[in-house]
Amino acid sequence: MTGKTGLRIGIDVGGTALKAGLTDGEGAVLCTRQRPFDGPCGPERFAQLLAELARQVLEDGGAAMEAVEAVGIGIPGAVAGGRVLYACNIALRDVPLEALFRRRLDLPVYLGNDADCAAAGEYRCGTGRGCRDFVAVTLGTGVGAGLILNGRIYAGLGAAGEAGHMVTHPGGIPCTCGRRGCWEQYASAPALVRMAHLAERSRLDAGLPSPERSGPLTDGRAVFEAARRGDPAAKEACARYVEELALGITNLINLLHPEKLALGGGISQAPDELLLLPLRKLTARACYGRHCGKTTELVRAELGNRAGLVGAALLKDVS
Ligand SMILES: [Zn+2]
Repeated sequence: MTGKTGLRIGIDVGGTALKAGLTDGEGAVLCTRQRPFDGPCGPERFAQLLAELARQVLEDGGAAMEAVEAVGIGIPGAVAGGRVLYACNIALRDVPLEALFRRRLDLPVYLGNDADCAAAGEYRCGTGRGCRDFVAVTLGTGVGAGLILNGRIYAGLGAAGEAGHMVTHPGGIPCTCGRRGCWEQYASAPALVRMAHLAERSRLDAGLPSPERSGPLTDGRAVFEAARRGDPAAKEACARYVEELALGITNLINLLHPEKLALGGGISQAPDELLLLPLRKLTARACYGRHCGKTTELVRAELGNRAGLVGAALLKDVS
């Protein structure tokens, strides 16, 4: 049994897994535990799964319940006042999750949006350390942003930071949110793959040869890898993608002008010369802050897929 007190439990609700971690008060992970998760299962069952997982990770860490100061839960959706307001991927709407959880495991509970948790993790334990204002953008299947303003998560009424749903192309591609032309449709990993296929098709239409590839361009990593090897369609797609990315990043920087903006998610693992360097160039030319000589630093997130869990564990301090 660990003699530590002031422990935290962070839970990250992902699309295919629930991950829990026991951390100390500084976000150092002591142990983790995860279980598969199929998504929608109803509020009661969902709360049950979370409470069971929290209990298991406590047991794994040999910690007593009294040693736990807070449980933080990162939800893929909008949360406020202990309730999940809306989380379409797990089919929850206006669910009193804090109360449902505490009925099963009576510990102080903090709910956060998953992108906010990722930002909080980076802010406390990753590349955002020492900043006052910090933004983390997650580029994956979707596009999310977490805003840390003056050392606290800024969630607004619950759905702030939905940067993926800023429109960058009026009348553009239909989005899951019901509008058209949202940034997410141009800056997510599926968008990059779509751009690669389009570039490939127009090359074929123009009678240009298709290069030998080790595999099909089915995900973001494959597109960046092909571009790195000089594949013309993949290179074209990456260049186009960075332009689209720069549109939204510039909007965010112009709105918030944080000290740092970090890119996380699968896409952020791309080689610097294909992502971060051209993106810095484009935003440096476009951001309003250039007129006053104050530039937001664009960096890669440091914690990888642990950011959400660590941030959830530390929600108490940044909520
Ligand atoms: Zn949208």
